[in-house]
Amino acid sequence: MNRPTNTIYLDNAATTPMHPEVITVMTEVMKNTYGNASSVYHVGQDAKAVLEEARSSVAQSLNCLPNEVYFTGCGSEADNWAIKGYAMANRKKGNHIITTKIEHHAILHPCEYLEKNGFEVTYLPVDETGLVSLEDVKNAIKDTTILISVMYANNEVGTIEPIAEIAKIAKEHGVCMHTDAVQAVGAEAINFQELGVDMLSLSGHKFGGPKGVGALIIRKGLRIEPFMHGGAQERSKRAGTENLAGIVGLAKALEISVANIPEKQEKMKEMRDYLISEIEKNIPYIKFNGHREHRLANNVNFCFRYIEGESLLLMLDINGICASSGSACTSGSLDPSHVLLALGLPHEIAHGSLRLTLSANTTKEELDFTVSKLQEIVHRLRLMSPIYDMSLEEN
Ligand SMILES: *Cc1c(COP(=O)(O)O)cnc(C)c1O
Repeated sequence: MNRPTNTIYLDNAATTPMHPEVITVMTEVMKNTYGNASSVYHVGQDAKAVLEEARSSVAQSLNCLPNEVYFTGCGSEADNWAIKGYAMANRKKGNHIITTKIEHHAILHPCEYLEKNGFEVTYLPVDETGLVSLEDVKNAIKDTTILISVMYANNEVGTIEPIAEIAKIAKEHGVCMHTDAVQAVGAEAINFQELGVDMLSLSGHKFGGPKGVGALIIRKGLRIEPFMHGGAQERSKRAGTENLAGIVGLAKALEISVANIPEKQEKMKEMRDYLISEIEKNIPYIKFNGHREHRLANNVNFCFRYIEGESLLLMLDINGICASSGSACTSGSLDPSHVLLALGLPHEIAHGSLRLTLSANTTKEELDFTVSKLQEIVHRLRLMSPIYDMSLEEN
């Protein structure tokens, strides 16, 4: 069995290949716009103009004001800043933060850090499909609550949360609302004004842009501490000479991504549902994870009983297929995914999870090959599994 010459990349939630047009505009900037946007002479002012053009473009793509766009070093930085920066600037108002058990670690770990520093955090549960309940949000709010942070779409199981509804509740109670929209920007139509949140995180490399650049959208007038202290860049909120090529690349990738969301979604949903039904048809003892409808158009997540997710990944890789078990940040550790545990899966089942995330270019042939290999691999791994043996004897 030879490894196919073509890689089948089904891990678009971990990162995406850059769009060719993005590489072109970034190369132009790297060649021609070398100035420091803070310099007064024309070479610097050219860089400043390119920077502000990118800011306006991002604002237009998300329907916010250009001055509400703050460029960061990545999605994790945007998340850290939103949580810690808001908490530190508003601690006189209260010390209570509400988030969920299924957030990315870029939210959970800053929250744990704040807990060690005098803040109180409520981690809301989710139901077995990964949805947060609006009742739970309402009931968790108290006099000391200053911030609610709920992710737009979960990076492991793809569940899309009712963000506009939660933002409405937050507003009614005078509480600030942040959403980690890193998985949703470029994939779902997002209108910052209509959504009603106060802060929103995004990351370039999740929608065809470069790695190492993100943004935090901060509603005009919101009180937040600077993330980085130093120069006056990003209106004195985030010091450091701007990653101009990266910022231009992020803006271009966003412009391309938001241009045809409905068409892309329709195409990906068809492929996604085909993949789900083929897996369910051909492989026994599996569990579908996440919500069937409120789900990212490109996300497929299953648990395969009696199997370790890591072995599955290795054997798929031998066959040229890139996939993920839990999230990329946690692979390497033997802990099962905190998201699957929050969905109520027992440890031994949560260990055998597989996430396949498609792109708009994923083909049916790629999916057919993947399912046939998956079927073979799952069968082979189960034959080697002592628990599988035992359970067969019981039945
Ligand atoms: C990828 C991801 C992040 C982190 O973004 P980076 O740019 O890789 O730091 C944060 N939140 C979610 C939901 C993500 O999927």
